[in-house]
Amino acid sequence: MELEFHGATDGTTGSCHVLRAGGRQVLLECGLFQGHREDTYRRNSQFRFDPRAIDAVILSHAHIDHSGRLPMLVRGGFKGPIHSTGATVDLAEPMLLDSANIQLKDAEFLNKRRVMDKVRARNEHREERRGVRHRLSHFYTHDDAPALAMSNPPKREVLPLYLEEDVRDTLPRFVPHHWGDWFQVGPNLRVRLHDAGHILGASWVELEAKERGKTVRVVFSGDYGRPQPILRDPVPLASADIVICESTYGDRCHPPVDDTEAQLSLAVERLHKRRRGKLLIPAFAVGRTQHILYALSRIFERKKIADIPVYVDSPLAKRATEIVYKHRECFDDEALARLRKAESGEHRLKVHFTQTVDDSKALNQAKGPMVIVSASGMMESGRILHHLAWSIGSPDTEVAVVGYQAQGTLGRRLVEGAREVNLLGMLRAVRARITVMNGFSAHADRDGLLQTLAPIAPQCKTLFLVHGENDQRLPLARTLAQRGFARVECPRNAAVWKL
Ligand SMILES: [Zn+2]
Repeated sequence: MELEFHGATDGTTGSCHVLRAGGRQVLLECGLFQGHREDTYRRNSQFRFDPRAIDAVILSHAHIDHSGRLPMLVRGGFKGPIHSTGATVDLAEPMLLDSANIQLKDAEFLNKRRVMDKVRARNEHREERRGVRHRLSHFYTHDDAPALAMSNPPKREVLPLYLEEDVRDTLPRFVPHHWGDWFQVGPNLRVRLHDAGHILGASWVELEAKERGKTVRVVFSGDYGRPQPILRDPVPLASADIVICESTYGDRCHPPVDDTEAQLSLAVERLHKRRRGKLLIPAFAVGRTQHILYALSRIFERKKIADIPVYVDSPLAKRATEIVYKHRECFDDEALARLRKAESGEHRLKVHFTQTVDDSKALNQAKGPMVIVSASGMMESGRILHHLAWSIGSPDTEVAVVGYQAQGTLGRRLVEGAREVNLLGMLRAVRARITVMNGFSAHADRDGLLQTLAPIAPQCKTLFLVHGENDQRLPLARTLAQRGFARVECPRNAAVWKL
């Protein structure tokens, strides 16, 4: 048996691990690297293995950092099935199409900027001599971008990583499975998926390989969730010889979900009291947006609020919400009960989904009170930028920051208390209230990971930690070694392990 790690070894994006077992080569995830760095594009644009040699892909869930390079794999000659749950199959379609659109727009933007930078350099040279400072305006935004658009302009022409037709070629390869049902990937390798409770359809993976008369068991956590609204709680990980586990929050504990919902409730009450202005909630289209809507529906009911409209301003979020509604097999009992209530009309929350850019811009002029949930989650791109540009200068605006804000993003600058920010090419004073709500994470925290891992320590021969910055995964590795794991490894990129 061999394991090769090709992503998510020095961070949380680009998940991609090759497992050679039971006479087959299986890819666990095929995710996109995301980030600002110059090397992101390079890392995404090539595989360090031959896609034609891969027999099958097992996809834990639809997030783009786990699924976003599948169209490149297919273009590279992969001909096998992509196994996942039905909900993941449904979510993968709009997410991969959105990703293809982003690739195209990013390439256009970077190429345009490359040309414009040349022009600017020439103009600046001229104007400097005349004593005039030249300024280039920011002109391009889209939904949930991987922020490539903000990196330094490339030296050579950039091509999109893949196009819509590559996604169309990929979708027929998906094979849906129910949680708990075994399926064969080869005569000596069988697999089943279990509920990981992270986003709709997310799974952890159990593999059983027969090699030289012995059965070897492998467990891969995917992104392991935590008890949260809507979805059922994650199923505990099973014992195995080899365990590959995520470590996103390996050294951090989340505040309870209820405390965070209480914070959101206070923000809604403030809006309700002032009777004007906007509560802006930047949120990722898949997962976080639905969680926020669910929390708002509970709050509106508890506080008996019926006259504040809620707008979801992201086409991808609209599609994702429809898919969530379709997959009730993933819901917990409370969510099912609330859904029945909503369907019978007993619901205070009135959600409006905007579709066109004009619908979105019409909200700019509105006085409120209203809640607007829009992408992207880190405020780097997408329609949220228009809403912020129009409203951030008003003390009647509150921005609820409900997700992680990476270094260098607009979201992070607001969280750190910037008094002025550049939005759509103009410097704007921040008079809005910025409220950080940290408890909405869909990942298990340190205690959650320890709780599911500790019982399986006795049988585990090697535990690999992936999908975590080193300040999270190294402390977790130390703790797990103290809790009885015989061998804990933090693999590096392209590392090969013979087991
Ligand atoms: Zn995820």
